[in-house]
Amino acid sequence: MIDKILIANRGEIALRVLRACREMGIKTVAVHSTADTEAKYVKLADESVCIGPPPSALSYLNIPAIISAAEVTDAQAIHPGYGFLSENADFAERVEKSGFIFIGPRAETIRLMGDKVSAKNAMKAAGVPCVPGSEGALPEDPKEIIKIARAIGYPVIIKAAGGGGGRGMRVVHTEAALINAVNMTRTEAGAAFGNPTVYMEKFLENPRHIEIQVLADQFGNAVYLGERDCSMQRRHQKVIEEAPAPGINRRLIAKVGERCADACRKIKYRGAGTFEFLYENGEFYFIEMNTRVQVEHPVTELVTGIDIVQTQIRVAANEKLRFRQRDIELKGHAIECRINAEDPFKFTPSPGKITNWHAPGGPGVRVDSHAYTGYTVPPNYDSMIGKVIVYGDTREQAIRRMRIALSEMMVDGIKTNIPLHQHLMLDERFVLGGTNIHYLEERLAEHQAAKSK
Ligand code: ADP
Repeated sequence: MIDKILIANRGEIALRVLRACREMGIKTVAVHSTADTEAKYVKLADESVCIGPPPSALSYLNIPAIISAAEVTDAQAIHPGYGFLSENADFAERVEKSGFIFIGPRAETIRLMGDKVSAKNAMKAAGVPCVPGSEGALPEDPKEIIKIARAIGYPVIIKAAGGGGGRGMRVVHTEAALINAVNMTRTEAGAAFGNPTVYMEKFLENPRHIEIQVLADQFGNAVYLGERDCSMQRRHQKVIEEAPAPGINRRLIAKVGERCADACRKIKYRGAGTFEFLYENGEFYFIEMNTRVQVEHPVTELVTGIDIVQTQIRVAANEKLRFRQRDIELKGHAIECRINAEDPFKFTPSPGKITNWHAPGGPGVRVDSHAYTGYTVPPNYDSMIGKVIVYGDTREQAIRRMRIALSEMMVDGIKTNIPLHQHLMLDERFVLGGTNIHYLEERLAEHQAAKSK
C-alpha cells in the first residue's frame, strides 16, 4: 500500500483527499501557495510545503515545484484533485517519470480524452452514443463544411477539440453564418488552447446534463455507479447536482452505464472518471469524459455507499476493485448545493474574512468545506468554499433536509449564494424534477426583470 500522498490541490477537495488518507492510515503532504499558508487543512496534514505565491500559475500549476515537494517529503503518490493539474497529461507523465504514482488514469488516456475529437471517436468505437456530428475534425474546404452542416441539420454547434470550461463553442442557426463562425472559432481556439482544430455537432435545444460515474482498476475490471443530474447550471457551471436523475428510465441508464464501463475496459481506463451526456427526448448523447474526481462526487457516494476517493487511491496502489457491478445498488436520493463566496443574484465574487461560520448537521447532512470562523477566502481562486450534501430515502425528503440545512447554515463577513439555493429548493419546477440546462438561467433572468420593474 501507499504510505504517503502529496495532495496537489487546495480548498475543500484538498481536505476531502486528506480525510480519505487519514481514514486509510496514509500520511499526507499538503502543498500550498502563500495565500493558503494559514488554512487549517494545511495544518491538519502531516507535512506541508509552500510551492509559491498566490497566482495559480506560480504555485498550484507549478509542476517542478510540486514534484520537488514530493521528492523532499518522500511521498510515493500524488493526488491532483479536480481543476488545476488534474487533467494535464504532461503533469501525469512527469509525475510517473519522476518515480511517483499519479492517482488518476495513465497520461495517454488523459491525452486521448482531453482532445474532444479523439475522445468522441474512441467513444463511438466503444459503442457509447454520441451527439450526431462531423466525422472528426472539420475539413478546410468551405463547401465540404456546408455539406456536413446540411446533413446534420441546423442549428449546429462548432466546438474546439481542445476546448474546456465551457469555452470555445459557437452555435450556428443558418447557413449564411456558418463559415464565418467556423473561422472565428478556429482563430479563438488556436489562441486559447493552442489547437485550432474544430468539429461540428447537432445543437440540442433543451437537453438535461446527465453524467455517469465510473471506477476501473488495473486488472480490467470496470463498474458504473449510476448517474448524476447536473442540469442546474449557470454559464456552464454546475450549481446543484443530484443522484439519481429524476424521471429517467432505469433500464436505459443501465444500458448506457454498461456501455461506459465497457468503454473503460476497451481503453484500459484506470481510476475514477465521468462520462458526461446531454439527454433529450429519451436519448443519451456523449459530450465529453472527465478523467478525474469531480466536485459532485459526494452525491454518488451517498446513494451507493462507495468512497470514490479511497477507491481512487486503492486502484492507484494496484488493488483490485472490491465490488462488482451486481454489488452496486442505488438507494435513496442525494442533493448537493455548491456554496460560493459571491453575491447570490449578481454573482460578483465576495472574498474576505468569514467572521462567523456555522455548518448545518443532523440526519443525512454532509458538509464538505475547508472554511471556519476566522478563515479568509482568498481572492485568487475559484469562489467555491464548500458543498452541502443531503441524503434522504426519497427526493422529497432530501429536498426537505436541504431546506433545513440551508436555514441552519450561517456564514457572516462575506456574501454567499445560500439565498439563491434557498429560493431554488422552493422552486416549483425544481421540486418537480427534470429541469433542463437552461432552466436556472431563465429563472435568473425572470428574477432580474422582476427586480428592475
Ligand atoms: P466543456 O469541456 O467546455 O465543458 P462540453 O463539451 O462539456 O464543454 O460542453 C459544455 C456545455 O455546452 C454543455 O454542458 C452544454 O450546455 C453545451 N453543449 C455542448 N455541446 C452541445 C450540443 N451539441 N448541443 C447543445 N448544447 C451543447
